[in-house]
Amino acid sequence: MIAIKRWGVDLLGLLFPNLCNACGTSLFHSENVICTKCLYDMPFTDYHLHAENRVAKQLWGRLPLNAAMAMLNFRKGAKVQNLIHNLKYNGKTAVGIALGSLLGERLKASPLYNGIDLVIPVPLHRKKLRLRGYNQILI
Ligand SMILES: [Zn+2]
Repeated sequence: MIAIKRWGVDLLGLLFPNLCNACGTSLFHSENVICTKCLYDMPFTDYHLHAENRVAKQLWGRLPLNAAMAMLNFRKGAKVQNLIHNLKYNGKTAVGIALGSLLGERLKASPLYNGIDLVIPVPLHRKKLRLRGYNQILI
């Protein structure tokens, strides 16, 4: 019975391949949303560990904040852009869940973000919400 189920999953995979949202290669059964190679190669920052990081410095004096960070470095045309575009424009909400999970792991491990009571999503403008169909911060 398990073999038949596995065969059915493999057949579905041929018809509707489960692709990495960063590089477009086929995902292995153990992978989800982003392939292992892309996860390994992602340009993660260590900003969650340093109060004086590039993002925080850009916001200093502009608004009151305790800490600020970005999880990934963004470069146009790179895999991070593919992920963001799949989330924002192709309805791949699973990308948001995967990235949110990665971000949560980092925040949980950071002394700068100990004692957070609440994460407040940045509201999306009505026009953007209508265009996109969902608020990516709330998925
Ligand atoms: Zn990949």
